[in-house]
Amino acid sequence: MSDNEKHVKVLILGSGPAGLSAALYAARAELAPVVLTGMQLGGQAALTHTIENYPGFPEGVGGAQLGELFQKQAEFFGAKVEFDLANAVDFSQRPYKVTTDSGEYLADSIIVTTGASPNKLEIPGEFELTGRGVSYCATCDGWFFKDKRVVIVGGGDSAFEEALFITRYASSVTLIHRRDEFRAGAILQNRAKEHPKMNFILNTIVTEVVGTEKLTTLKLKNVVTNEESTFDTDGLFIFIGHTPNSQMFKGKLDMNELGYLKVNDKMETNVPGVFAAGEIADPTFRQVVTSAGMGAAAAIQATRYLEAQETTHSQA
Ligand code: NAP
Repeated sequence: MSDNEKHVKVLILGSGPAGLSAALYAARAELAPVVLTGMQLGGQAALTHTIENYPGFPEGVGGAQLGELFQKQAEFFGAKVEFDLANAVDFSQRPYKVTTDSGEYLADSIIVTTGASPNKLEIPGEFELTGRGVSYCATCDGWFFKDKRVVIVGGGDSAFEEALFITRYASSVTLIHRRDEFRAGAILQNRAKEHPKMNFILNTIVTEVVGTEKLTTLKLKNVVTNEESTFDTDGLFIFIGHTPNSQMFKGKLDMNELGYLKVNDKMETNVPGVFAAGEIADPTFRQVVTSAGMGAAAAIQATRYLEAQETTHSQA
């Protein structure tokens, strides 16, 4: 084993609610788990302004704050959280090998909790003006739009929740949705519809993001009438769902056609000793509480797997 190669019993890829809950359970089983944070400590939940549906917080809790609490609790019991990013995995022999930005890990078991990333509209100007008016994170960037006009694209819970958050700063928030019905829950919809700063443009898509130094205008198209128009705005926040971060596991772990990892009811993937939890393996619920539950289940099962391995080796 080289200097920058470390051997651990449980390696957890990702530090969202699933990863840090798995770390807590694996730490309490005295397996000294190592968590590789990935790009964002706390995962997507940490980018959410307020989480109102995680039990135990009747007043709601900040997403970043909840992530820090998860981390603190896992570390208290012995988990190690490393600011590192996994780039490649080798499951061809045990211990499994994971290559990261800083070196290599050998792991007796792995819990994959790499989550998902926000979808892009994939329209002209979107990429060029990201960070210059275009954003995918209200918590990160909402503050920059104090007394400015903001457009939100999307019709789900994320679009509504983040739109309401941005009303704290922006002078106006216009939600543009491609249909005339929303997926978002009734409570959020009602709150938004009653908010004096909120406006809605329905049956409409954004076809181009325009601006030189920064975003100034959106090109719109009504999908019913095909009518084209422009809309001046300072900010564009896009909340149109997510894509699972599973590219690294292509051809190595079974996944569905959308790229979500397939697990059984014990969070086991098709590779023995490799488990998956949270949004990477959950196209259906995608809640902080369900991800945390899956993470705990994966760690319990990893513990059983390692115990069974030890028993087999000691009998051999
Ligand atoms: P989502 O529910 O999948 O909604 C995505 C929205 O984006 C849909 O309205 C969809 O339109 C629209 N969309 C997708 N692709 C588009 C495109 N190319 N152009 C324009 N619009 C597009 O995603 P989400 O809002 O991120 O929520 C994900 C999950 O997290 C859900 O299960 C949600 O309940 C949960 N969540 C819950 C809370 C909460 O409870 N407080 C907060 C945030 C998220 P269509 O409707 O036409 O398909």
